[in-house]
Amino acid sequence: MSHDQQDVQASDSSADWQADDAAELYRLESWSDGFFVVDDSGQVAVQPLDDSDLRFMIMDVVDEAIKQGMTLPILLRFQDVLRARVQRINHAFRDAIEENEYQGSYRGVYPIKVNQLQEVVDEVFDAGQPFNLGLECGSKSELIAALPYLKDDNTLLICNGVKDRTMLSLILSAQRLGKNVIPVMEKFAEFEELMELAEAADTATQFGVRIRLRTSGSGKWADSGGYRSKFGISLPELIEIVEQLKKLGRSDAFVLLHFHLGSQITNVQILKQAAKEISQIYAELVNRGLPVRYLDVGGGLGVDYSVDNEEGAIHYSLQEYANAIVTSVAEVCDQRDVPHPILVSESGRAITAHHSVLVVETLGAYTKDRIADNFSPANDADDTVKRLAALHEELRNAKPGEWLASELLEAYHTIDATHRDAATMFRLGFLALEQDALVERLYWSICSLLLQHLRYAAPDPRPPEFIELEEKLVDQYLCDFSVFQSVLDHWAIGQAFPIMPLQRLAEKPTRRALLVDLTCDSDGKVSEYVSSNEDKSFLELHSLKPGEPYYLGFFLMGAYQDIMGDAHNLFGRVGEVHVYADQEEEGNFWIEKTIPGIKIQDMLAQVQYFPNDLQRRMNELIKAKIEAGEIRPKRGMQILEQYLACFQQETYYDTRRTNEVTKS
Ligand SMILES: *Cc1c(COP(=O)(O)O)cnc(C)c1O
Repeated sequence: MSHDQQDVQASDSSADWQADDAAELYRLESWSDGFFVVDDSGQVAVQPLDDSDLRFMIMDVVDEAIKQGMTLPILLRFQDVLRARVQRINHAFRDAIEENEYQGSYRGVYPIKVNQLQEVVDEVFDAGQPFNLGLECGSKSELIAALPYLKDDNTLLICNGVKDRTMLSLILSAQRLGKNVIPVMEKFAEFEELMELAEAADTATQFGVRIRLRTSGSGKWADSGGYRSKFGISLPELIEIVEQLKKLGRSDAFVLLHFHLGSQITNVQILKQAAKEISQIYAELVNRGLPVRYLDVGGGLGVDYSVDNEEGAIHYSLQEYANAIVTSVAEVCDQRDVPHPILVSESGRAITAHHSVLVVETLGAYTKDRIADNFSPANDADDTVKRLAALHEELRNAKPGEWLASELLEAYHTIDATHRDAATMFRLGFLALEQDALVERLYWSICSLLLQHLRYAAPDPRPPEFIELEEKLVDQYLCDFSVFQSVLDHWAIGQAFPIMPLQRLAEKPTRRALLVDLTCDSDGKVSEYVSSNEDKSFLELHSLKPGEPYYLGFFLMGAYQDIMGDAHNLFGRVGEVHVYADQEEEGNFWIEKTIPGIKIQDMLAQVQYFPNDLQRRMNELIKAKIEAGEIRPKRGMQILEQYLACFQQETYYDTRRTNEVTKS
């Protein structure tokens, strides 16, 4: 590890760098939805309220949480942001409905799978009450978590997913309680089963049908809709359902039509097409006398993570999304002369993504080894070392622009070959370890000088060697987190998330960093970044200062990520802090709740290691050594205590200096 990094990577002056430049570099404005800003002090501030510009610093929250005994990594939940997102989505539909004189209403439901944490669901549900917000569940466990929210009989609960008899029966019972629960039939067999259960219980029921549309989504989740979809009822099956209902005299049970195009709809044209397709089906059913009232357009409202690749880029605003649905449905209904239905949408990602931020600490920066500036080889040094040292000296003394691009590239090819030859010589025993180490240092120092000179020579287009050099010279920043626990989608589907330093933003970042995590998995790194650089394979960060913590914020963590984590290497859920803005409080915020991270003991229990048994086995090991006279009994018991104390620790890197080995 090297703290005395020379800032050789960037060459232009940092004097005219301002906090605004940091916002630009990390593309803050395009993904923050106005909730996060760079303060003039060079820190990231949260500005969570729609009706005020009250702000507070994320670093102040972290400091306060640490004072209250929390350790990093910490997940911060900004509850006001959650509320604001619920309001913004509802206001967008309200405006679209007014603007287009739509005759029906809008009622969103929150799909709890996106973030099931009770505090999140509570906050979303509470913020949604003025708008009649309901809930959506996709499994038996989620149904059980959601049912108690239905205090008001009018509140909608949509049940998607594959439903077994237990789940269908519970839904029927909830309906009998007078609750507005609507199971959505995903398969024809599910419909038959529901009807059978309703007959047996001699009770009325209501349900919806998920239609397998011809329109399919786009991007990573394209297969959630369309004919390849895992879910949904085809048109021939739909006709069969209508006929069976007539036969049973239960036509009044069919109240909702549903489609879901998949997450992150990239293009509103596809959404419009799907909305029109389902509206035609709706009109057909209404004309056949079925009392379908709700039209549910599913989830998929996109969140702008500011990635540039076509697969993930979101090309529309919240208002455009609402307008697309309202106008498409109205157009078809007016054409077919049927009433405008109640619109339902199931936005999950768009409600929760913004509200949580993962704060991690950098534990160290690993730079390629370099040679001292004033290095000169000993007389008996290897010839390779002498040749490289001469080139190093020459490049160090050259003025910017003195070497032509072609000369620099030639030099690069030469040292690359020398570097490879040295490895061969070492393997064959012709190069001593110390000499090989000098070759290594000289090689990296020359590479970084070549890159510096190439920047001045500014060849255009940039030759591949230039890009190769930039990639080779990136620093590794080791961070206190696990990609698999906290940023699962980055590893699983290559989703990039905005990451930026929370401090020193008024200072120009001069290092190019690759973030690596604590796991011993080579996939445990962040390999794509959100930035205004053309090259997204590194993140620009500051040099670390000894003894001064350097915190990074991982943004837009609230949808799927902070709930889905995987226990790779037994790193567990991170600690959480729930924060509210308040201008009466010092620093403009207060911490409502802290939840400590998972303890080592709890992670071990998940894979069937239990404290008593581990203690007994460790004790046997130690006793054997005591009996053999290899250690003193007192020392042995101290080691056992030290082992047991670790059970209560959290799973991440503890930067506090506690629990060090006691001397006997
Ligand atoms: C996952 C899912 C949602 C939520 O989708 P978002 O893209 O997060 O809005 C909504 N409805 C259904 C049926 C889903 O499976």
